[in-house]
Amino acid sequence: MKALMYIGDQQMEVWEVKAPDGAFLVKVLGCTVCGTDLKTWKQGHPYFKPPTILGHEFYGRVERAPEESGYKPGDYVVVAPYGECGECEMCRSGVPQLCENKDYVETGAFCEMIEVPLSFVERGVIKLEGPDYVYALTEPLACVLTALDQLEIRPSDKVLIVGGGPMGTLAAMTLLEQGVDARVGEINPKRQDKLREWGIPCETTEHWYAADKYDKIIVAVNVPALIEEAVRKVRSGGKVHVFAGLPSDTELKIPAKDLHYRFVQIMGCSGFAIPAFRRAFEMIRKNPARYQALITHRFPLEKGQEAMETLAKGEAFKIMIEP
Ligand SMILES: [Zn+2]
Ligand SMILES: [Zn+2]
Repeated sequence: MKALMYIGDQQMEVWEVKAPDGAFLVKVLGCTVCGTDLKTWKQGHPYFKPPTILGHEFYGRVERAPEESGYKPGDYVVVAPYGECGECEMCRSGVPQLCENKDYVETGAFCEMIEVPLSFVERGVIKLEGPDYVYALTEPLACVLTALDQLEIRPSDKVLIVGGGPMGTLAAMTLLEQGVDARVGEINPKRQDKLREWGIPCETTEHWYAADKYDKIIVAVNVPALIEEAVRKVRSGGKVHVFAGLPSDTELKIPAKDLHYRFVQIMGCSGFAIPAFRRAFEMIRKNPARYQALITHRFPLEKGQEAMETLAKGEAFKIMIEP
């Protein structure tokens, strides 16, 4: 099968590789590029050593499935790239996102065929009514829902999202749909226009800080200074969420007085657990057109390198690669 290989040094190349041959196979129809994929392509990643296949936000068509799985060839599906076991200490203590015994799909999804371990099919695969590429966004939306859950947002909260990339935008869309007063701080004027077009209040972060106080601030850009600023500026008793990943040696300078005297809470998360994945799927199913707008570019697998370059230039929201 064809696979888009990340070979290091900001390079992607289409390779002919051995196709998986397991009992449950999914033909990948589309996989969106995640911030993590882009970061890996740009500067490398400790977990993803080249040559390797990236991509985990995908949907596809069942190619092979045993009858008892409840699926048959031709079924359209979205697949969680991983899922928690439900039994380990982390799962039992309410942090399934940190499960120590996760099941994973076999490889990255920038390729033609993915194997899903049979033991994971029931938890990790959801049947679609038909082929619709919007469901690739199930995984990123699940990550967003995880962060929003953690923040325990109340209907009366004012929420500022710092950063109008895909994740910040998904968070804003979700909150606005729930009737929460949410806005996005974004410096790129082209992005500002796009967000406003989608009905999301968007100005620079500076503007929003000057205009008001916020109960919850989600930092969806990987700039430590913006996290530190959020802690200083969030309303007393408020919460700041470190949503964007930072290099592992990053340290933050947080004034202890904001935590002690102003009751400010700082938190963060990454990834998702299966219940959030299922909720994200239901949300997209109710309003596919709204989410579809976020996928601004689609590239065939052969143009994977061009896809990454386009994303790196900041010209796209979500880019989909279609094997
Ligand atoms: Zn992702
Ligand atoms: Zn577990």
